Amino acid sequence: MTTTRFAPSPTGYIHVGNLRTALMNFLIAKKAGGTFILRIDDTDPERSKQEYVDAIQEDLEWLGLTWDRIERQSERLDRYVAAADKLREIGRFYECFETPVELDLKRKKQLNMGKPPVYDRAALALSDDAKAKLRAERGDGHWRFKLDQERITWTDGILGDISIDAASVSDPVLIRGDGQFLYTLASVVDDIEMGVSHVVRGSDHVTNTATQIQMIEALGGTVPTFAHHSLLTGPQGESLSKRLGTLALRDLRASGVEPMALLSLMARLGSSQPVELRSSLDEIAEGFDISQFGSAPTKFDVNDLYPLTGRLLGEMPLSAVADDVAAAGVPADQAEAFWNVIRANITTRKDIAPWWDLFENGAEPVIDAEDVAFVKEAMALLPEGPLDGDSWGAWTKAVKEATGRKGRGLFMPLRKALTGQSHGPDMSEVLPLLKVIKARG
Ligand code: GLU
Repeated sequence: MTTTRFAPSPTGYIHVGNLRTALMNFLIAKKAGGTFILRIDDTDPERSKQEYVDAIQEDLEWLGLTWDRIERQSERLDRYVAAADKLREIGRFYECFETPVELDLKRKKQLNMGKPPVYDRAALALSDDAKAKLRAERGDGHWRFKLDQERITWTDGILGDISIDAASVSDPVLIRGDGQFLYTLASVVDDIEMGVSHVVRGSDHVTNTATQIQMIEALGGTVPTFAHHSLLTGPQGESLSKRLGTLALRDLRASGVEPMALLSLMARLGSSQPVELRSSLDEIAEGFDISQFGSAPTKFDVNDLYPLTGRLLGEMPLSAVADDVAAAGVPADQAEAFWNVIRANITTRKDIAPWWDLFENGAEPVIDAEDVAFVKEAMALLPEGPLDGDSWGAWTKAVKEATGRKGRGLFMPLRKALTGQSHGPDMSEVLPLLKVIKARG
């Protein structure tokens, strides 16, 4: 049974980097007919906010990344206590009392001596009396998992064969001095108890994976298949970490990006397969293959989302945009004709209302100095109406005969005079819809 999870911490809005993780896990479950869990990693009560939990759900729903089950770590603390007890029983858990300053000093000393800054396990040598004394002085200690100092290996779904020497990694802290359980243990307990079979996450978690594999084994669980995707960079390869805040999914939504444009891009970016515009998650799942992703950092350019959005809209039937068309004030009986005229010429749904406004209220004419006389002469030849699909052809033919202009020199000044723009739908379709022609003067 394939079970995956997306496990955001609700400490902020989720962004394109998180989306990559969510989407890959979602697609693996979907393709296999398995279960996709949304797990809220909220063991940190100070930084976790309900507002972000709500926002995460809203953002995933916007994209159609619906979950079969939702779990909150803050509601499962008793499970983590039980796991910690078990680790204690089997001698894999020990209490430490160093302060952050002391630990920092140890690290600096090690680095100065050219050694890796790995925790020296000094606390393992403390007698029960010594611990009792420290506890009385400093309060409860923090608890570390005792790694078996051997090589930890796994075959990563993206990175291939990985081997990490556990002796080069500090024993991870699983419970803080204030009693707070850290994600590292909570995640392992959840993955075991929820039967998670595949874990996809960012390559910043590779070391976590090594230690978590030992924890899963110590707790008698089955190690899932791990895959670590590369991190996103900006278009020039620059780090995105500071800018990810501006690439929140809700901001992309507000800027008019279409869900399927974003999903189509993210399902292929960083893989050897080309980006193909898809109209449903089922289609995306069919063509999804995690083994096609590479380990190199993946370049992401937010501007790539707009041409894809425009192409998607161009292919959409009226039914898919009916609400936006109605909200723009288009009467139902004109909606179909209006949409068919504009749909190939818009970038986002935000362009719908301005086109309707242009048809209803006319556009400020744009007339270059050398075209002033020409446009005036042309306007005199434009019939009062009603105008239909043949009007543009008949009119421009008459203007051509009267002025001798042809081609671009004939059509472009007229387009700009009527619509105020140099781009747009076929003018023979635009003209009959223009209720006000300001260029008539
Ligand atoms: N809450 C963790 C994070 O957001 C989850 C990592 C994981 O997938 O295990 O980084």
